[in-house]
Amino acid sequence: MPLDPAPLYFRTALLAEGWARHVRIETHGGLVARIETGVPPAPGDEVHAIALPGLPNLHSHAFQRGMAGLAERRGAGDDSFWTWREVMYRFLDRLGPEDMQGIAALAYMEMLETGFTRVGEFHYLHHAPDGRPYADPAEMAAAIAAAAAETGIALTLLPVFYAHSGFGGLPPGEGQRRFICDLDQFARLREGCRTVLAALPDTVLGVAPHSLRAVTSGELAQLLELAMDGPVHIHIAEQTREVEDCLAWSGQRPVQYLLDRADVDDRWCAVHATHLTTEECVRLAASGAVAGLCPITEANLGDGLFPAPAFLAAGGRFGIGSDSNVLIDPSEELRLLEYGQRLHARRRNILADADHTGNGAGNRTSSGATLFGAALAGGARALGVAAGIGQGRAADIVSLDANHPSLIGRTEDGLLDGWIFAAGRGGIDCVWRRGRRVVSRGRHQAREAIAARYAGMISRLL
Ligand SMILES: [Zn+2]
Repeated sequence: MPLDPAPLYFRTALLAEGWARHVRIETHGGLVARIETGVPPAPGDEVHAIALPGLPNLHSHAFQRGMAGLAERRGAGDDSFWTWREVMYRFLDRLGPEDMQGIAALAYMEMLETGFTRVGEFHYLHHAPDGRPYADPAEMAAAIAAAAAETGIALTLLPVFYAHSGFGGLPPGEGQRRFICDLDQFARLREGCRTVLAALPDTVLGVAPHSLRAVTSGELAQLLELAMDGPVHIHIAEQTREVEDCLAWSGQRPVQYLLDRADVDDRWCAVHATHLTTEECVRLAASGAVAGLCPITEANLGDGLFPAPAFLAAGGRFGIGSDSNVLIDPSEELRLLEYGQRLHARRRNILADADHTGNGAGNRTSSGATLFGAALAGGARALGVAAGIGQGRAADIVSLDANHPSLIGRTEDGLLDGWIFAAGRGGIDCVWRRGRRVVSRGRHQAREAIAARYAGMISRLL
């Protein structure tokens, strides 16, 4: 095992128990071995100003980073999620494992540079461009794991089961040929994923029934047996057409249908869950499932606005995901989550009313602290890990630039408000994964090589 890096020292740090001052963190083998607070730095310590825990990104399709900005031209009719999906299907027509690794590496590097330290990869691009399985069913998953290894990001891999094109087990379309598995193929794929992950630290393996459009309730029951204690993620109620189709087919809305047929509990992440009735908000919150909100992508695709006040009032938990990766930045996800609600309600500080962090800190008046705490706790829960900087956990830490104009003179929760609402990615200084610095002054250590490889590859693909 390589030597442990020098202990980190911060003037102020957001630990799992809350804010602390003069914090010294020793790591051993990538884990936090010892935390001291209220102490001076020791000779040889690496001294920084402000530490936050790295945030979990609970929902990503890494390859979609390669088509960011390509679907922003108006077509002949009304553009929607469904016309965007046609552009996406065309983009992945020629994408091979090397392309997957190159694009995923760029996306994961940008995640680290903006303060995400773990990604939940909702991985459905399994087969070769002609739809035939690769000799190794986990070939594409291996490319994702290689990108995680290159960049250092922690990986929760969520291999996707995708079998149908619409409610009621409709046969898949031609554009879906690279995603489709039967249950036996999927079990082999998942075993392949387990092997791939064994070479990386801190990995978690889950299972992702793609959506109620792509999976029948019988298949869902069998998938849940495979999942055991791991995370279960599903896209749900993202689009009004999806809700209408589900109603027409079953007489129920998607979330109602799911809650009536599956044992949804706190292992689950309901990705998007945009269109909920108040009753569905209450039931989903009571199940313990995390709502996987992706505000930038949901805005980009014109999905709709998540009913956050009703869901949070019912005690619901949420995390954030970068989903289509059209723009990667957790501060922007959190800002847009709050701003969508402000625009709708014509009021300010909508989501700051209560404590959503679950750490017993009582009511918080800071929007930034509430959003950050909720996304940290909910995201970690959804990705199958413990949240925050604490003994025995991976030393995944983000430091803010105390000299950024929007952070000067701020303390504690005020730093989170300053970062999320004003500084954005310019406020990030360094990022450590397992105690090793991977980002300095906002730039990943491998940025040049990863960006150069990506540039060559994407010009070919386009
Ligand atoms: Zn998605």
